Amino acid sequence: MTELFIATTNKGKLAEIRSEFDAAGLQCLKLRTPSDLTKPMEIIEDRPTFIGNAIKKARSWADATGLAAIADDSGLCVDALGGEPGVRSARYAGEPCDDLANNNLVLAKLSHTPADSRQAQFVCAMALALPGTTLAVFVDKVEGVILTAPRGENGFGYDPLFLIPHLGRTTAELTMTEKSQLSHRGKALRRLIQWLNTHRSALAARHANFPA
Ligand code: IMP
Repeated sequence: MTELFIATTNKGKLAEIRSEFDAAGLQCLKLRTPSDLTKPMEIIEDRPTFIGNAIKKARSWADATGLAAIADDSGLCVDALGGEPGVRSARYAGEPCDDLANNNLVLAKLSHTPADSRQAQFVCAMALALPGTTLAVFVDKVEGVILTAPRGENGFGYDPLFLIPHLGRTTAELTMTEKSQLSHRGKALRRLIQWLNTHRSALAARHANFPA
Protein backbone atom coordinates (compact mmCIF):
# COMPACT_ATOMS: atom_id res chain seq x y z
CA MET A 1 0.00 0.00 0.00
CA THR A 2 1.36 3.45 -0.88
CA GLU A 3 -1.46 5.63 0.35
CA LEU A 4 -1.42 8.09 3.20
CA PHE A 5 -4.41 10.08 4.40
CA ILE A 6 -3.97 13.83 4.99
CA ALA A 7 -6.75 15.28 7.12
CA THR A 8 -7.16 18.63 5.41
CA THR A 9 -9.48 20.16 2.83
CA ASN A 10 -7.30 23.29 2.61
CA LYS A 11 -5.71 23.25 -0.89
CA GLY A 12 -2.85 25.54 0.18
CA LYS A 13 -1.91 23.26 3.08
CA LEU A 14 -2.15 20.19 0.87
CA ALA A 15 0.14 21.74 -1.76
CA GLU A 16 2.64 22.59 0.98
CA ILE A 17 2.48 19.02 2.36
CA ARG A 18 2.85 17.47 -1.13
CA SER A 19 5.90 19.59 -1.84
CA GLU A 20 7.55 18.60 1.48
CA PHE A 21 6.92 14.87 0.76
CA ASP A 22 8.40 15.29 -2.73
CA ALA A 23 11.44 17.10 -1.32
CA ALA A 24 11.97 14.13 1.06
CA GLY A 25 11.99 11.70 -1.90
CA LEU A 26 8.49 10.35 -1.15
CA GLN A 27 6.92 11.15 -4.54
CA CYS A 28 5.59 7.57 -4.65
CA LEU A 29 3.16 8.21 -1.78
CA LYS A 30 -0.42 8.90 -2.88
CA LEU A 31 -1.97 11.48 -0.60
CA ARG A 32 -5.68 10.94 0.03
CA THR A 33 -7.84 13.66 1.61
CA PRO A 34 -11.41 14.07 2.92
CA SER A 35 -12.36 15.40 -0.55
CA ASP A 36 -11.74 11.88 -2.00
CA LEU A 37 -14.44 10.36 0.22
CA THR A 38 -18.10 10.15 -0.72
CA LYS A 39 -19.33 10.32 2.88
CA PRO A 40 -18.47 13.55 4.71
CA MET A 41 -17.22 13.26 8.28
CA GLU A 42 -17.07 16.09 10.79
CA ILE A 43 -14.62 15.85 13.67
CA ILE A 44 -15.25 18.25 16.53
CA GLU A 45 -12.01 19.84 17.75
CA ASP A 46 -12.99 19.89 21.43
CA ARG A 47 -9.72 18.96 23.14
CA PRO A 48 -8.03 21.60 25.35
CA THR A 49 -4.64 21.27 23.60
CA PHE A 50 -3.27 21.34 20.05
CA ILE A 51 -1.77 17.88 20.66
CA GLY A 52 -5.13 16.49 21.82
CA ASN A 53 -6.97 17.80 18.78
CA ALA A 54 -4.28 16.64 16.32
CA ILE A 55 -4.34 13.11 17.80
CA LYS A 56 -8.15 13.02 17.85
CA LYS A 57 -8.29 14.00 14.15
CA ALA A 58 -5.52 11.63 13.01
CA ARG A 59 -7.03 8.70 14.96
CA SER A 60 -10.58 9.39 13.70
CA TRP A 61 -9.48 9.56 10.06
CA ALA A 62 -7.25 6.46 10.38
CA ASP A 63 -10.15 4.52 11.92
CA ALA A 64 -12.59 5.73 9.25
CA THR A 65 -10.34 5.04 6.23
CA GLY A 66 -8.11 2.17 7.38
CA LEU A 67 -5.10 4.22 6.20
CA ALA A 68 -2.22 5.79 8.07
CA ALA A 69 -3.42 9.37 8.64
CA ILE A 70 -1.71 12.69 9.32
CA ALA A 71 -3.59 15.55 11.00
CA ASP A 72 -2.55 18.88 12.43
CA ASP A 73 -3.98 21.43 14.80
CA SER A 74 -2.53 24.89 15.02
CA GLY A 75 -3.17 28.38 16.24
CA LEU A 76 -1.91 31.64 17.63
CA CYS A 77 -0.82 32.03 21.27
CA VAL A 78 -0.33 35.60 22.52
CA ASP A 79 1.72 36.00 25.73
CA ALA A 80 -0.14 39.12 26.94
CA LEU A 81 -3.46 37.27 26.50
CA GLY A 82 -2.35 34.30 28.61
CA GLY A 83 -1.92 32.10 25.52
CA GLU A 84 -5.19 33.04 23.84
CA PRO A 85 -6.64 32.52 21.26
CA GLY A 86 -4.88 29.09 21.44
CA VAL A 87 -7.04 26.14 20.44
CA ARG A 88 -9.91 28.59 19.82
CA SER A 89 -7.92 30.47 17.14
CA ALA A 90 -10.27 29.68 14.25
CA ARG A 91 -13.39 30.76 16.12
CA TYR A 92 -12.02 33.36 18.56
CA ALA A 93 -14.62 35.96 17.56
CA GLY A 94 -17.37 33.33 17.29
CA GLU A 95 -18.73 30.90 14.70
CA PRO A 96 -18.35 30.63 11.76
CA CYS A 97 -14.61 31.26 11.33
CA ASP A 98 -14.03 34.90 10.28
CA ASP A 99 -10.35 35.90 9.92
CA LEU A 100 -11.04 39.63 9.90
CA ALA A 101 -13.21 39.50 13.04
CA ASN A 102 -10.61 37.31 14.80
CA ASN A 103 -7.81 39.74 13.92
CA ASN A 104 -9.86 42.73 15.08
CA LEU A 105 -10.59 41.03 18.39
CA VAL A 106 -6.91 40.33 19.04
CA LEU A 107 -6.05 43.97 18.16
CA ALA A 108 -8.81 45.26 20.47
CA LYS A 109 -7.64 43.07 23.37
CA LEU A 110 -4.06 44.29 22.86
CA SER A 111 -4.98 47.95 22.41
CA HIS A 112 -3.29 48.92 25.72
CA THR A 113 -0.35 46.50 25.37
CA PRO A 114 2.94 48.28 24.59
CA ALA A 115 5.18 47.31 21.68
CA ASP A 116 7.70 45.48 23.87
CA SER A 117 5.03 43.17 25.38
CA ARG A 118 3.34 41.88 22.20
CA GLN A 119 5.24 38.56 21.80
CA ALA A 120 3.30 35.65 20.32
CA GLN A 121 3.82 32.21 18.78
CA PHE A 122 2.17 30.24 16.03
CA VAL A 123 2.07 26.64 17.33
CA CYS A 124 1.40 23.46 15.38
CA ALA A 125 0.90 19.88 16.54
CA MET A 126 1.17 17.25 13.80
CA ALA A 127 0.07 13.66 14.51
CA LEU A 128 0.46 10.39 12.61
CA ALA A 129 -1.90 7.51 13.40
CA LEU A 130 -2.90 4.06 12.25
CA PRO A 131 -6.34 2.62 13.04
CA GLY A 132 -6.37 2.27 16.84
CA THR A 133 -2.79 3.57 17.33
CA THR A 134 -1.05 6.93 17.60
CA LEU A 135 2.40 6.53 16.06
CA ALA A 136 3.99 9.96 16.53
CA VAL A 137 3.24 13.59 17.39
CA PHE A 138 5.49 16.57 16.73
CA VAL A 139 4.95 20.09 18.07
CA ASP A 140 6.76 23.12 16.71
CA LYS A 141 6.41 26.88 16.83
CA VAL A 142 7.54 30.17 15.34
CA GLU A 143 8.08 33.29 17.43
CA GLY A 144 6.70 36.68 16.44
CA VAL A 145 5.22 39.98 17.55
CA ILE A 146 1.66 41.20 17.08
CA LEU A 147 1.50 44.50 15.14
CA THR A 148 -1.06 47.24 15.81
CA ALA A 149 -2.46 47.06 12.25
CA PRO A 150 -2.48 44.37 9.53
CA ARG A 151 0.24 44.20 6.83
CA GLY A 152 0.46 41.96 3.74
CA GLU A 153 -1.88 40.05 1.46
CA ASN A 154 -0.59 36.46 1.54
CA GLY A 155 -1.46 33.57 3.82
CA PHE A 156 -4.56 33.36 5.96
CA GLY A 157 -5.81 33.76 9.52
CA TYR A 158 -3.62 35.93 11.74
CA ASP A 159 -0.76 36.20 9.19
CA PRO A 160 -1.23 39.98 8.56
CA LEU A 161 -0.69 40.73 12.29
CA PHE A 162 2.26 38.37 12.87
CA LEU A 163 5.65 40.10 12.44
CA ILE A 164 8.80 37.99 12.24
CA PRO A 165 11.19 40.42 13.95
CA HIS A 166 14.46 39.34 12.29
CA LEU A 167 12.88 39.58 8.81
CA GLY A 168 10.93 42.79 9.45
CA ARG A 169 8.02 41.20 7.56
CA THR A 170 4.72 39.67 8.59
CA THR A 171 3.94 36.10 7.57
CA ALA A 172 1.39 37.66 5.18
CA GLU A 173 4.33 39.39 3.44
CA LEU A 174 6.17 36.07 2.80
CA THR A 175 5.68 33.75 -0.17
CA MET A 176 4.27 30.30 0.59
CA THR A 177 7.77 28.78 0.24
CA GLU A 178 9.38 31.40 2.49
CA LYS A 179 6.69 30.90 5.14
CA SER A 180 6.93 27.12 4.99
CA GLN A 181 10.70 27.25 5.67
CA LEU A 182 10.19 28.93 9.04
CA SER A 183 6.59 28.21 9.99
CA HIS A 184 5.28 26.15 12.90
CA ARG A 185 3.55 23.81 10.42
CA GLY A 186 6.50 23.50 8.02
CA LYS A 187 8.89 22.59 10.85
CA ALA A 188 6.52 20.08 12.51
CA LEU A 189 5.76 18.50 9.12
CA ARG A 190 9.43 18.10 8.16
CA ARG A 191 10.15 16.41 11.51
CA LEU A 192 7.21 14.06 10.99
CA ILE A 193 8.32 13.22 7.44
CA GLN A 194 11.85 12.53 8.67
CA TRP A 195 10.43 10.20 11.35
CA LEU A 196 8.24 8.48 8.76
CA ASN A 197 11.20 8.00 6.40
CA THR A 198 13.32 6.52 9.20
CA HIS A 199 10.67 4.10 10.48
CA ARG A 200 8.86 3.33 7.23
CA SER A 201 10.25 -0.10 6.44
CA ALA A 202 9.93 -1.36 10.02
CA LEU A 203 6.36 -0.10 10.34
CA ALA A 204 5.33 -1.45 6.91
CA ALA A 205 6.59 -4.89 7.96
CA ARG A 206 4.49 -4.79 11.15
CA HIS A 207 1.31 -3.03 9.93
CA ALA A 208 -0.46 -3.98 6.71
CA ASN A 209 -1.94 -0.46 6.51
CA PHE A 210 1.33 1.43 6.73
CA PRO A 211 2.61 2.87 3.40
CA ALA A 212 5.37 0.54 2.16
P1 IMP B 1 -6.04 25.06 11.72
O1 IMP B 1 -5.36 24.23 12.73
O2 IMP B 1 -5.32 25.08 10.41
O3 IMP B 1 -7.51 24.79 11.61
O4 IMP B 1 -5.91 26.57 12.20
C1 IMP B 1 -6.70 27.08 13.24
C2 IMP B 1 -6.65 28.58 13.19
O5 IMP B 1 -5.38 29.02 13.69
C3 IMP B 1 -6.76 29.19 11.79
O6 IMP B 1 -8.11 29.40 11.45
C4 IMP B 1 -6.02 30.50 11.98
O7 IMP B 1 -6.87 31.45 12.56
C5 IMP B 1 -4.94 30.15 12.97
N1 IMP B 1 -3.69 29.76 12.28
C6 IMP B 1 -3.10 28.54 12.29
N2 IMP B 1 -1.99 28.54 11.54
C7 IMP B 1 -1.89 29.78 11.04
C8 IMP B 1 -0.95 30.40 10.15
O8 IMP B 1 0.01 29.78 9.65
N3 IMP B 1 -1.18 31.69 9.87
C9 IMP B 1 -2.23 32.38 10.36
N4 IMP B 1 -3.14 31.87 11.17
C10 IMP B 1 -2.96 30.57 11.52
